[in-house]
Amino acid sequence: MVVVGGGQSALAATYHLVRANRRRERPLTFVVLDDRAAPGGAWTEGWSSLRLFSPAAYSSLPGWPMPPWSGPGTPPAAHVRDYLAAFEARYALPVLRPVRVREIDASDPRAVLVRTDAGDVRARAVLSATGTWSRPFRPAFPGAEDFGGRQLHTVDYHGPAGYAGRRVLVVGGGNSAAQVAADLLLADPPPARVVWAAREQPRLLPDDVDGRALFEAATRAVAGEGPGVGGLGDVVAVAGVQHARDRRGLRAVPLPERLTPTGARWADPGGGGAREEALDDVVWCTGFRPALVPVTGVGLRRVDGHPLTRADHPTVSADDPRLLFVGYGDWTGAASATLIGANRSARDAVGHLGDLLDWPEEQAP
Ligand code: FAD
Repeated sequence: MVVVGGGQSALAATYHLVRANRRRERPLTFVVLDDRAAPGGAWTEGWSSLRLFSPAAYSSLPGWPMPPWSGPGTPPAAHVRDYLAAFEARYALPVLRPVRVREIDASDPRAVLVRTDAGDVRARAVLSATGTWSRPFRPAFPGAEDFGGRQLHTVDYHGPAGYAGRRVLVVGGGNSAAQVAADLLLADPPPARVVWAAREQPRLLPDDVDGRALFEAATRAVAGEGPGVGGLGDVVAVAGVQHARDRRGLRAVPLPERLTPTGARWADPGGGGAREEALDDVVWCTGFRPALVPVTGVGLRRVDGHPLTRADHPTVSADDPRLLFVGYGDWTGAASATLIGANRSARDAVGHLGDLLDWPEEQAP
């Protein structure tokens, strides 16, 4: 079996593979192919103040809890990176990196051909855990093509250095936009202006409610129960967001109607005439799309831009049971794009392998 990608989702899946193999006379051999030079997946990216929105105890992969974080607030990205690297070592996972998977060819019913930049591999099943970081999404926006300043995406934002004295528009209604806008507002030296714009006013969760609420909301969604505190689109008020809200007035304004060559223009619903702001930068914190380039040529049916998966197994392709998808967000299982949510998604995928590879019942994962 080939696991494509070596981030948190892949590690959750490999934990379940290792566990299933312990019960098998003939263990299923598998390899993890990751195109990064170091462990951590997308956690090797991001900006200097990026933190988990949940406590360590609520950000654990299966099998081995994330070590406690003794510092202030929730764990920083470096703590997550260290944990993911230690997880790989602890289970002696067969991760080959950097190896990029170029294409998956499932045309042969006897084996799936995985083409990589280090040669080809034939597999009985392929689990895609390639995440979304390499597929940033920027919406078409009126006037964007005329804007004369810098336009960046979340993936290009590494911290406030380079924004001092500049006028910055941060676009987006989720956790990334809130954290980037807060990071800029709290910077010293500060930008000349930071405007956070969103389609509608983002809902900041209460300060004592963190990512756990989002996971629980997702779990209720999976169980078909009503929403409760927090929904997946809400913003967790991590420490930086709280400070920016309390000290710098962090609050989103409506989206401008268009960008102009020198800034952005807001229509004035009050009829007082349009308002224009001069800008130097726009940071699009407008999300991601699944990084599924390797399976593009397989001809899988798609829904909402992603492969159709089975209703009873959201990680299994509805067109080819040898192709599994883990960690891409709700279509692969509620909250599956989080550390704690990856487990449910990974267990579903590896559990399906038992059926696919005709493992005797007592040895199925
Ligand atoms: P990734 O971490 O992206 O790992 C995928 C790996 O596959 C990468 O190494 C990638 O390079 C590699 N890859 C991709 N394509 C190929 C290929 N063709 N061949 C070989 N390798 C390939 N989650 C939480 O649980 N808690 C949080 O607090 C949290 N905060 C977040 C804040 C921000 C700003 C963002 C953007 C995300 C946050 N997340 C959080 C979500 C979490 O970071 C991601 O969802 C998570 O990294 C996804 O894990 P993954 O393993 O699916 O993908």
